[in-house]
Amino acid sequence: MDAAVSAAREKLNQATPLKKDCGRVCGARCCRPMEGEETGMLLFPGEAEAYAGKPGWKVRKTAHGDLVVCPGSCRREERPLSCRLFPLLPVIDDGGAIRVVTDLRAKAVCPLARQGKSAMDPAFIDAVREAGELLARSDEQAVFLDLLADEQEQLKELRKKFI
Ligand code: SF4
Ligand code: SF4
Repeated sequence: MDAAVSAAREKLNQATPLKKDCGRVCGARCCRPMEGEETGMLLFPGEAEAYAGKPGWKVRKTAHGDLVVCPGSCRREERPLSCRLFPLLPVIDDGGAIRVVTDLRAKAVCPLARQGKSAMDPAFIDAVREAGELLARSDEQAVFLDLLADEQEQLKELRKKFI
């Protein structure tokens, strides 16, 4: 697997949004697909190889990158980076520093995302920042983070139109 992704995954091996298991609070909403849908998580560049041929996991190529469809439950060590970061996202600002934002894609499903970062464990926010710093050292991962940040901007514009 890509070294930067592997290091970022490692950084988020233990840190979680709350000190307790937030899945017990919300019924693990982010792990349940919408009714009748097979939803997947976007994989970071180089991450797909960890899931190719893995029983119960499927990798799909999309216009936005590789998506993985999971079995609906997983062990911490096999969790994709997108799931480890959720519901936050590291964003590279104009000066090259990492800013941690609440992922707008998460607001539809995650009660913590709706409350914002103040509801989350500061150690988790720090771990997401550090994971972002590790990713930003790789040109390929930095480009991918920029694409995710662009998507957040587009969502922000859409929300302004409809809310
Ligand atoms: S939806 Fe949010 S609160 Fe629920 S398990 Fe996922 S991250 Fe935790
Ligand atoms: S990979 Fe794991 S954490 Fe991510 S959605 Fe599937 S079950 Fe949930």
